[in-house]
Amino acid sequence: MSEGLITAAYIGATILFILSLGGLSHPESSRRGNLFGIIGMTIAVLATLFGPRVNGGLTFSLIMVAMVIGGSVGVYAARQVKMTQMPELVALMHSLVGLAACLVGYANYIDPTTHLVGADKTVHEVEIYLGVLIGAVTFSGSVIAFGKLSGKIGGKPLTLPGRHGFNLGLLIVVLILGNSFLGAESPANGMWPLIVMTVLALVFGVHMVMAIGGADMPVVVSMLNSYSGWAASATGFMLSNDLLIVVGALVGSSGAILSYIMCRAMNRKFISVIAGGFGTGGGASPTAAAAPTGDVSPVSAVETAELLRTAKSVIIVPGYGMAVAQAQHTVCEMTKILREKGVTVRFGIHPVAGRMPGHMNVLLAEAKVPYDIVMEMDEINQDFPSTDVAMVIGANDIVNPAAQDDPGSPIAGMPVLEVWKARVSIVMKRSMASGYAGVDNPLFYKTNNRMLFGDAKKMLDEVVRNLA
Ligand code: NDP
Repeated sequence: MSEGLITAAYIGATILFILSLGGLSHPESSRRGNLFGIIGMTIAVLATLFGPRVNGGLTFSLIMVAMVIGGSVGVYAARQVKMTQMPELVALMHSLVGLAACLVGYANYIDPTTHLVGADKTVHEVEIYLGVLIGAVTFSGSVIAFGKLSGKIGGKPLTLPGRHGFNLGLLIVVLILGNSFLGAESPANGMWPLIVMTVLALVFGVHMVMAIGGADMPVVVSMLNSYSGWAASATGFMLSNDLLIVVGALVGSSGAILSYIMCRAMNRKFISVIAGGFGTGGGASPTAAAAPTGDVSPVSAVETAELLRTAKSVIIVPGYGMAVAQAQHTVCEMTKILREKGVTVRFGIHPVAGRMPGHMNVLLAEAKVPYDIVMEMDEINQDFPSTDVAMVIGANDIVNPAAQDDPGSPIAGMPVLEVWKARVSIVMKRSMASGYAGVDNPLFYKTNNRMLFGDAKKMLDEVVRNLA
């Protein structure tokens, strides 16, 4: 393949990646976005395989073997993983990007065919040093994030005394080592500062993520996604590969924007997430603060069906529990029946409902809920006062009024869906347990609130039976 053709292929792939990101920004266009991404990546891989850097023969065969092994593991993992385990899979994949950046950095440093001098040599070594540094932090940080998300490591933040000083110390040592690395005459001399820096970067990655609580872990995964992009970009500089530079920058910046959006939706400051120390093990274990502080009004599936049937307008607020119960298809069926009966049904989606951005949108799209009745929180929040029934399905933190009313609450200031402003709210969950943030929810005790206790799928099946 000629250089010109490769450049054209790389430009085409870059455009497709940008279109892909654009498409992924809305559920309706996300399939198209995915398709653009797949085509772009196929073009990029083919252009690389048939480009001048792969000289056919053994190199080509080795790449093919690696691709078959990696591809098979990827397909197997993607087919096995449950939707709720997706953040874990993503964390694991980021760790591989980090590891690849490290290995490419080392291979590049000892490459006997590279003969750079002067400024070119310095720039190349800075690229290697940065690539290995970011790659090592991404690798170890992602492995710990995977451990925390999968419950293999406790979610409690590890807050060592003087941890910020320790991190600062590591940074200073990394800078000193960088100076020795750049001043080294030969790879043999530069290797030790590179190795010591790698070990320190691995320690930093472990320490950074261990200090962050389980509740903030998905933000960390998105942040590591950003790191993995920058690591790939640094690799692109090392290899003088323009496509890798651009794609890495796209991943790096989109990951950073996503982390920012998630922090805003949880009313957390990005810096305080990184500084760590917030959040518990996550999950729905009731804390002392979660003890009941009033009377709750339980409701049966039959009564729920009656409330829904007689309503003019209903807003459904799905949360993590809907994903756990895999109740999205029943939710769709119930929506269909209600709409046939002339009830206006809409969905209110909180930006951090579930356990990853877009979690609810994906599930509702899978169940074929029409996109035009699925609204963002900001679009629908003002409509609750004119709504007859707000139906909360397996959600908790995202409908917690304490976020607005209690300045002392750990989630104070987090924007929430104001379901309590509807004429009646019905919360469907199995118990009085708290949500991911581990805080009590005063919504359950409001006089216009009803609790429909039970597994979301089971209870919805019953509601649907009584609606039909
Ligand atoms: P929550 O974790 O607050 O609450 C989910 C509720 O679902 C639980 O209280 C649980 O109660 C209930 N539940 C669990 N299983 C079932 C079931 N089978 N049937 C019925 N109910 C069930 O989830 P939300 O979606 O309300 O909020 C998301 C939380 O995750 C927020 O705190 C957010 O900040 C956090 N988060 C989200 C991220 C994202 O990107 N989406 C990223 C980072 C954090 P019970 O056990 O009683 O049934």
